[in-house]
Formats: sequence, C-alpha cells, structure tokens
Amino acid sequence: MSAKKQKEKLQRGKLYYSFPAMSMLPLLFFSIIVIIFSSITFSRSMQEQISTELQNVANLARTLIDTAYPGDYTLTGDVALSLYKGESNITSDYTMIDTVKELTGAEVTLFFQDTRILTTITNWDGQRIIGTRAPDPVLEEVLGQGQAKFYNNAIINGRTYFAYYTPLYNTDGQITGILFVGKPADQVNEQVDRVMVPIFIVSLVALLCACLFSVRYARSFVRVLYALKSFFSEVATGSLSVQLDPIVLKREDELSEIGLSALTMQRSLRNLVEQDTLTELYNRRNGEMHLNASLAKAKSVNAPLTLVIGDIDFFKKINDTYGHQCGDLVLKNIAGILKKNMRDKGYAIRWGGEEFLLIYENSSLQETFKALSALLDEVRSTCNESEGHQIYVTMTFGMACDPSRSLKDLLHEADDKLYYGKNNGRNQIVAELPPERH
Ligand code: GH3
Ligand code: MG
Ligand code: MG
Repeated sequence: MSAKKQKEKLQRGKLYYSFPAMSMLPLLFFSIIVIIFSSITFSRSMQEQISTELQNVANLARTLIDTAYPGDYTLTGDVALSLYKGESNITSDYTMIDTVKELTGAEVTLFFQDTRILTTITNWDGQRIIGTRAPDPVLEEVLGQGQAKFYNNAIINGRTYFAYYTPLYNTDGQITGILFVGKPADQVNEQVDRVMVPIFIVSLVALLCACLFSVRYARSFVRVLYALKSFFSEVATGSLSVQLDPIVLKREDELSEIGLSALTMQRSLRNLVEQDTLTELYNRRNGEMHLNASLAKAKSVNAPLTLVIGDIDFFKKINDTYGHQCGDLVLKNIAGILKKNMRDKGYAIRWGGEEFLLIYENSSLQETFKALSALLDEVRSTCNESEGHQIYVTMTFGMACDPSRSLKDLLHEADDKLYYGKNNGRNQIVAELPPERH
C-alpha cells in the first residue's frame, strides 16, 4: 500500500462510511419495496391469467363433450358400472379429453359425483388415475355448493397443480359431477421463471450499478470534503503555503466555490502575515526571509545583487504639519512608486517607519544606480494630494552591492551611505562614500 493510501486510510472518519451508506440505503430500501410489490402484483396477475386460461379450457372441454355426446350423464349397470352421456357409453372414451389436452396442454378430468371416471393424468407407470376421489375441499365447494373454483395448490397424485374445478349439470339442474382442468405448478413456474429470471437479473444489475454509482459519487464528494478539511487544518496550524488538492477545483459545483474561497482566504492570511498592511509591501520579517533566500541564490550562481536602503526626507515634518493621516497617504504613495519601479527588477520591503529596503536582483551597482535615479525622479515629481494639501517629498538612498558578503555587512554599508547622504544634503543616491569616509 502506498504511503498516500495509508495516510488516506488513517484519515478516514465517520463521513467516509456514513455518507455513501446514507446515499445508498434509500435506493436499496426503495428497490426492495419495488421488487416485493412488483413480485406480488406479477404473481397475482399470473394467477388471474392462468385462472382465466383454465376457465376457457374448461368451457372448451365442456362444449366438445356436450357436442360429441349430447344428453345427460347417467351411471348404469349392476356389477360393472358404466358412465353414459346421453346414448353414448363414455366410460373409457378418452378421445375428447385427450384432444383437449393436446390442444391446450392442460390436464382434464371428468368426475361422476366424487369419482374420477375419465382423466388425462397418469401415475408413474403411465396408468390413468381413474377411480380415485376428488380432494375434500373440492367436493365441498364445487360438488356440494355448486361453485366453480380456481385452486393454486391442488395436490393430485402427489403433484401440485393450478386447477380449475367446475360443476357438471344434468338437464334437470342436478349436479352430477365435476370437470377439472389444470396445469402442473412446476411447469407454470418454469414458464414464469423463463420470463422473470432475465427481468430479475437485469433489475439486479441495474440496482448494483445504481448503488455503485451512488457510492462512487458519495465517495468523490467525501474525498473533496477531506481535501478541504486537510487544507483548512494545515492553514489553521500556520502552513500558509499548503497546496489545495486539485480534485476540489476540478469540480464545477459549490464545493469548488468553497475551494476557491479557501484559497482566497489563504492568500489574504498570507498577505496579512507577510505584507505590511499600510503599504502592502513585504513586512520586515518576511522581507528578511526573502532577502536571505535572494542572497543565497545570488551567491550560488555568482550573480550580482544590490541592496538599497531608502528613507523619506524630513518625514516627521509632514506628520507635524499635515497630520498623521497625510503621512500615511504619502507612505502609501511612495510604496506604490517603489513597487512599480521594482517590477521585473526585484522587490521592496518596508524596513521601518519611513525606511525601505530595495533588492535589485541580478543587477550591478551601475545598473541599479540608473534605475534608482529614475525612481528618485518619480518620487520628487509626484504630488501627494491629501486633505487639500499638495505635498512633495524627496528620499535619500544608500547602496551596497556584493552578494559574497554577509547580509549584516551589506546592511551596514548601505546604512552608512544613507547616513552620509542624510548629513550631506539629503535628496540623493549614495553609491560610493568619498575616500576619506572609508
Ligand atoms: P530624516 O530626513 O532625517 O529621515 O528625518 P525624518 O523626519 O524623516 O526622520 P525621523 O526619524 O526624525 O522621523 C520619522 C518619522 O516617521 C517619525 C514617525 O512618527 C514617522 N512615522 C513612522 N512610521 C509612520 C507611519 O506609519 N505613519 C506615519 N504617518 N508616520 C510614521
Ligand atoms: Mg526620514
Ligand atoms: Mg528614518
């Protein structure tokens, strides 16, 4: 198992299991109800269909017998009894019932009173089961009460049948016997299975697919929640540069919107921590980190790097004359000019109150001096308008260029040059100290 998977497994909480389960359970519950309900409905309609079919077979059988042998049923003889239908002795005449069986596939039995006289049903050795009695409930309900009845579990000769029993009448209205038509239940069930099994398999596959889809969707949802959770946990513990898992932003829904808000929040927090709030330049702590990294990089590739300390001249006077708010505005404007001028050249840091550090990466003393002169010109010519006042300021800069030296040394040198500039008229860039100052 990969380290990532192991970590993921460790982090799985309640939601990882409960969410997919909760999205799948209603589907399963609903499907089970539908399966049960449709099975019952199907079974009922099957029985109704068989009942109607057997009723039709019974009518056919009765019509055939009545047409072939018109007249009433009578039992004659003393020792060997014979069943007559009208003038015909039908005791062993199976022609009609065999024809019906051949035409419809249904078994047919003709009872005189309670006894099977003619039947298509045979026992294990092929003998027709004549002379046996009809089941008791049939005798009571069909023979006794004259009702035609459908049974879905009539047991005849040890086999279960769907059976339809109907009373037979003579012309005087007396019940003389029963006509049975039936189909073995196992045969019918086999037919039902042939229809039902494919439907069942297709439904089961569809249900499985639906469950799988719902679990997969829920899992992907939970995975995004986990990614967001881990992102927020990292940010909460101060890791402001942690990456948000790309799966969050790949989505096109509210979760990706939360992801975007989380990233914005991270950026704002990072700005709050890394930037100076007034000037939106790097603050001193963060600037120092960047500066160390820039120095190390310049050293490693032997590239020039120039460090500049700049300070606004007579800034205290601005505060004293126009108020602190005007001072703030001037600071913001100057910071804007610095930021603009440092674009593609390096970066600016608010080092102290009205003191800034400019880091010119990959830039020699001469190149920096040129760029810095343009910057100073812009500072001088910028009119800072505040509360109806038009305020112009100047700055003094001290430079140091040699990445092989320590940061402390470079800062010291730049500071020395700034101090020199402050004491020698301000409003200038000091790149080199006069020989006597070295
Ligand atoms: P110099 O030319 O020698 O640098 O003189 P200066 O007046 O600029 O220097 P000084 O160090 O005497 O005064 C700096 C002033 O800057 C003092 C302080 O109140 C002000 N200051 C520092 N930070 C801020 C700030 O964020 N906003 C405002 N409005 N003023 C600030
Ligand atoms: Mg100053
Ligand atoms: Mg100062």
